[in-house]
Amino acid sequence: MSYVDEVYERVVAQNPAQPEFHQAVREVLDSLRPVIERNEERYRKEALLERITTPERAILFRVPWVDDKGQVQVNNGYRVQFNSAIGPYKGGLRLHPSVNLGIIKFLGFEQVFKNSLTGTPIGGGKGGSDFDPKGKSDREVMAFCQSFMTELYRHVGADVDVPAGDIGTGAREIGYLYGQYKRITGLYEGVLTGKGLTYGGSLARTEATGYGLLYITQEMLKANGVELAGKTVAISGAGNVAIYAAQKAEQLGAKVVTVSDSTGWVYDPEGIDIALLKEVKEVKRARLTEYAAARPSAQYHEGRGVFTVKCDVALPCATQNELRIEDAKALVENGCIAVCEGANMPTTQEATEYLMSHGVYFVPGKAANAGGVATSALEMSQNSMRLSWTFDEVDAKLHDIMVNIFKNIDAAAKEYGVPGNYVAGANIAGFLKVATAMEAQGVV
Ligand code: NDP
Repeated sequence: MSYVDEVYERVVAQNPAQPEFHQAVREVLDSLRPVIERNEERYRKEALLERITTPERAILFRVPWVDDKGQVQVNNGYRVQFNSAIGPYKGGLRLHPSVNLGIIKFLGFEQVFKNSLTGTPIGGGKGGSDFDPKGKSDREVMAFCQSFMTELYRHVGADVDVPAGDIGTGAREIGYLYGQYKRITGLYEGVLTGKGLTYGGSLARTEATGYGLLYITQEMLKANGVELAGKTVAISGAGNVAIYAAQKAEQLGAKVVTVSDSTGWVYDPEGIDIALLKEVKEVKRARLTEYAAARPSAQYHEGRGVFTVKCDVALPCATQNELRIEDAKALVENGCIAVCEGANMPTTQEATEYLMSHGVYFVPGKAANAGGVATSALEMSQNSMRLSWTFDEVDAKLHDIMVNIFKNIDAAAKEYGVPGNYVAGANIAGFLKVATAMEAQGVV
């Protein structure tokens, strides 16, 4: 049996009931085969793949808090510190009822390669809880965040582990978490990113993942002789990534015709009204039905189906495994030429294979959505230097980083004999830097 297959079997046996983690490991290891085969004897002896697929540390903890009725609630807290070979652990905190250890491990594993691709010195980690901020009062969210940080503070720090936002963790939650960290430790340091602008946050961090997604999409299309301007774009999600992806797509001359949330989706052939979308989602925190009610050109559909519309470019920006085989078939049927992942692993493996084998350019999330964490690394730099860059300075650095990521994944794919396969290119480029650092640091 090949080394890759052996390690995959070991991961499945040692991490039962964690299908998302298995899926992420499978996808990465499969595309690393050309690299592993070139160095198989050495990597085997060093157990490099066994080490890279095992988190350095996984912290599980109880998060008790009191709701508005005086009832004590208990949630599970997680922080998986996956790999610190190239820098302090870095990765978001997800607050969603679906969160479990397997999901956090899949996200932490992906984060290792994504962070490596950014070219900034950050390792990989991820955390979160099955707490659902939806429908909770601000006081309840604060009570949860304070309790969560009362345990987490002993495992994080500006040079140790720097969490950030993710699904369910926005500016409000980061603020409460930061306040509690500062209160317990007495340290005013960059322990979290995604902070508010008045207390160490970076300009353009809010926009970074969505903007970065469009910068790399534009660069990838350009490399293949296609203009983004004038194209029709289907976006899923209506959260942080989706909103700023839509905004940048429009600024670059494309037309965005869809957004979605967990209850339904909107088709707006006139082009999504970004100001209205922001009002509904960022200010009122309401459902997309409100968007459709306020916009005569918009049609609202219950449930799934956002990728059944005719589009040139699809940008899944909601959650994992949302773009399935039936969506991939509809996209190909409708002439879609590119899928670039704003969310983490939004495309199932089957759908990814279908899209790529039908000639659709496909940029995986670990490259395409790396703009968020790259800008978090820029926030860390500003905190360490105790200064703030302007929006345009950060945006220009983000643009350069995304262009470089594309160049690196494109070059790695070509070097290893799979030109145009950006999934392989991203995994190979991300892996090589981490693997080289791990080898240099010995058996740790
Ligand atoms: P948000 O919480 O701001 O938005 C998530 C969006 O996806 C919401 O519209 C939500 O709808 C929808 N959604 C969530 N779960 C489901 C589901 N099961 N089915 C359908 N729709 C769903 O999160 P972000 O925009 O920050 O994150 C989106 C994705 O991007 C995630 O995969 C995240 O890990 C990834 N990402 C985010 C980065 C960032 O900087 N924010 C950086 C890199 C990756 P509803 O409101 O109804 O729940």
